[in-house]
Amino acid sequence: MSQKFDVVVIGAGPGGYVAAIKAAQLGLKTACIEKYQDKEGKLALGGTCLNVGCIPSKALLDSSWKFYEAKNGFAVHGISTSELKMDIAAMIGRKAQIVKGLTGGVASLFKANGVTSLQGHGKLLAGKKVELTGVDGTVEIIEADHVILASGSRPIDIPPAPVDQKTIVDSTGALEFPAVPERLCVIGAGVIGLELGSVWARLGSKVTVLEALEKFLPAADEAVAKEAHKTFAKQGLDIKLGARVTGSKVNGDEVVVTYTDKDGEQNITFDRVIVAVGRRPVTTDLLASDSGVDIDERGFIFVNDQCETSVPGVYAIGDVVRGLMLAHKASEEGIMVVERIKGHKTQLNYDLVPSVIYTHPEIAWVGKTEQTLKAEGVEVNVGSFPFAASGRAMAANDTGGFVKVIADAKTDRVLGVHVIGPGAAELVQQGAIGMEFGTSAEDIGMMVFSHPTLSEALHEAALAVNGGAIHIQNKKKR
Ligand code: FAD
Ligand code: AMP
Repeated sequence: MSQKFDVVVIGAGPGGYVAAIKAAQLGLKTACIEKYQDKEGKLALGGTCLNVGCIPSKALLDSSWKFYEAKNGFAVHGISTSELKMDIAAMIGRKAQIVKGLTGGVASLFKANGVTSLQGHGKLLAGKKVELTGVDGTVEIIEADHVILASGSRPIDIPPAPVDQKTIVDSTGALEFPAVPERLCVIGAGVIGLELGSVWARLGSKVTVLEALEKFLPAADEAVAKEAHKTFAKQGLDIKLGARVTGSKVNGDEVVVTYTDKDGEQNITFDRVIVAVGRRPVTTDLLASDSGVDIDERGFIFVNDQCETSVPGVYAIGDVVRGLMLAHKASEEGIMVVERIKGHKTQLNYDLVPSVIYTHPEIAWVGKTEQTLKAEGVEVNVGSFPFAASGRAMAANDTGGFVKVIADAKTDRVLGVHVIGPGAAELVQQGAIGMEFGTSAEDIGMMVFSHPTLSEALHEAALAVNGGAIHIQNKKKR
């Protein structure tokens, strides 16, 4: 007899594993299918995020930042170091331990919450049945009242730079370089390219970023993108815009990358190349031909705002559906779907999904950019506060960047918070909390902020919206 569950989730990334835990918490008999195996051949839960994404990249960003700071930022505090060394194997080993701890943690959470963890490949058949092919090839049919597809995404390959995971790597290979490459090319100046490029640049690589678009960080507020470009250039990241990679040739331990820009065809020789040109949804062998689930023109599973697919009772969440490819977006979609299965009216607020780039300076935002609001014809007031005027940032010797608060000129409602600088991700989250409750710039201005904190920069930027900042000269008169 086949197993039957209230909910079957395919994929145990931050979308799928969170949905499965929530479903079990709400009393639903739940199974989660995952096929990913670690280097030891063991089932590893947590998806891209825990295994080869958010967490390992942040582990390397933190290690490399400590090294960079020790080398370049300690002297100002009166600290001198001699013979600073970086043990790459130890850094990669630390990262692996963090990944192991967290993926193992998901397995423990499944046990603690009563989620049945099934290892293998899941495929949706017609009639909400799921075919599970185990690692040994055995096939089992599982029945479900509700199926949640959470199969995630994988790196996009481009024919001009085929990944061999040695000389030309994708984001996964870039987390495992055995040594610091002397000359490193990053194709694509998106979030992943900038973060991984930063890791190796801090450790000593000469990094060149080749980006096809003319505009740097087009999704960010223009003022933030401009500041970021300037600062990254100062750090030694050579970011070439309008540079489209058209070919590459591996010669032993080197690779010649060809790109075209406004001056024609160019060639540069590198030791390693990271291809970071985006990610695409994973739907390979996920849907039987008669499953009834529609795919949109870009290859994503088609869903509405409630993550319902074209088949009643079948949902899809996370990177495999439209929207930002972010772990927190995936998780919250999972929660929304499960709560709706239980009859709640939960609706994720897609307008307030924060974005973060974990470079230094850190970049984060929530809500709309000034250029988008202007294009939409919304009149706005803008308040900015530079970290150069923040006592806390000065004490930390980390004064680059600013906080920018954008509010509706008529209602004063905050429509966007954009931060480049120390603690950006955490500051933007404060803005997001306020915005979820419809805060005005005046509301934030009237609150008491601890002194000295980086958060005071958010306070002052909100005050500046209406010309009331204390620690800078206001652009706008009251
Ligand atoms: P995934 O995490 O991709 O998980 C899908 C899972 O489904 C995988 O484990 C896969 O093996 C499994 N699967 C697929 N098909 C099947 C099948 N048929 N049967 C069984 N199992 C299947 N996001 C952030 O929010 N913050 C960050 O800082 C951040 N940093 C990143 C850094 C890097 C280098 C990368 C690559 C990504 C980063 N992301 C970050 C993006 C984030 O990892 C993804 O948005 C997130 O993992 C998506 O979650 P998901 O559950 O939709 O899919
Ligand atoms: P993201 O999707 O945010 O991860 O960013 C990927 C970036 O890669 C985008 O900004 C693309 O413009 C860029 N890109 C895609 N193909 C190429 C290419 N052949 N050469 C250079 N940049 C590219």
